[in-house]
Amino acid sequence: MKTVLELINLLKKKEITPYELVSEYIQTIEEKEPIYNAFINVYKEEALERAIELSKKNPEDYLLYGIPIAIKDNIAVENMELTCASRILLGFKSPYSATVIKRLLNEGAIIIGKTNLDEFAMGCSTEFSYFGATRNAINPEYVAGGSSGGSAVAVKLNEVPIALGSDTGGSIRQPSAFNGVVGLKPTYGRVSRYGLVAFASSLDQIGPIGLTVKDVALIYTIIAGYDPKDSTSVNIEVDKFEEIFKDRKYKIGVPKEIITEDVEKEIKDGFYWSINKFIELGHQIVDIKLNYLNYALGVYHIISSSEVSSNLLRFDGIRYGYRADGKNLEEVYINTRSEGFGDEVKRRILIGTFCLSYGYYDEYYIKASKVRRLIKEEFLKIFENVDVIITPTVPVFPWKIGEKIEDPMKMYLADIYTVIANLVGIPAISIPIKIASNGFPISIQIMGNYFKERDILDLANQIFTSSNL
Ligand code: GLN
Repeated sequence: MKTVLELINLLKKKEITPYELVSEYIQTIEEKEPIYNAFINVYKEEALERAIELSKKNPEDYLLYGIPIAIKDNIAVENMELTCASRILLGFKSPYSATVIKRLLNEGAIIIGKTNLDEFAMGCSTEFSYFGATRNAINPEYVAGGSSGGSAVAVKLNEVPIALGSDTGGSIRQPSAFNGVVGLKPTYGRVSRYGLVAFASSLDQIGPIGLTVKDVALIYTIIAGYDPKDSTSVNIEVDKFEEIFKDRKYKIGVPKEIITEDVEKEIKDGFYWSINKFIELGHQIVDIKLNYLNYALGVYHIISSSEVSSNLLRFDGIRYGYRADGKNLEEVYINTRSEGFGDEVKRRILIGTFCLSYGYYDEYYIKASKVRRLIKEEFLKIFENVDVIITPTVPVFPWKIGEKIEDPMKMYLADIYTVIANLVGIPAISIPIKIASNGFPISIQIMGNYFKERDILDLANQIFTSSNL
């Protein structure tokens, strides 16, 4: 397996051509897809054509010359299908490309395909896809994690060297942890959401999933930055790749109390191992308390589902994709939405509609927004005293496919440590640090202060390179 940085080197030295590289990855995709189902669509011809086009260009003019990349299928790429793994978007082709896609293409990347996800990115396992579940790259009997399961599995299987995911409550970090790859959720506002199909607009962010911290950092520096097309995009200078990895020393906040009996023993041990490693590397450990963690999941589901009930109104059978029959307009709406959406999406729309309805709005949505504010204030206080906060990424290992599908509440618990970064809006990264006795990776999460991606990437790289995976 080669990293993006290694591939760039080979391509620039002309030791391999973009065409040869794309062909190699396509071959792996063809071998692995029948089992793993990481892709919804593979654009073989288009990718090879672009590779030929790029061969006529000067590699030195591009940062990602000839690098194949996979894109989660809730991000728009012009002329490619955009399914969000939903029946309701069947046959819909995007008329335009997301800002992140334009930035990647401008730097010479080659889009090889669109990856599988839980329908509209709602889920923790990539089982809630109209196109069938993606399987875990370490053991295909187990779930891939989600919702960016396709992207994480594609990278781990070497079907592609790098991929984009989206993260509303952990969807980049959790599947990265389940498959042993690196996933970064940038600060809210850092990466343009223009062209990302909205799940919960106040929480969604696009980010990279890769084999190493450095690969993820490189892609982050390319996709991040101000975009007038996204009104929540922030105009703050993005870190330069060369200035990220300086082995700086950090003050690391550790909320020990959150490591309860519910956390798997080996994940606990791995987490404590990482604390010792950080001390060995010369960092300072500071005990911190997260008083509101117990409320985070509840707050997350109230706010995200409320936003879902509004954002998904646009899928009505008139504008996009699938349309069911009906005697009148209302029936067309009802039949299209009843047939087009899967159970999990319907569940979230119902919860969200309830939380926003007259008489319950103050009780649920407003109260959740107030608690969100308290969580944010607690984090701002903590960051007065520490540079970063570490937690395990997920308290559990991947479960068997089908095991929790009847009880989504059990699945939601896997997001306990990841939803906070979205509620607060801060950047967070998941890195594998060890392999457990069951063969699955153990990962930790590093959260940083607003727009301090540089700090979490620099620190993540220090532990990643010293854990020798
Ligand atoms: N697993 C979480 C959920 O089900 C987060 C999903 C996401 O980040 N897109 O909502």
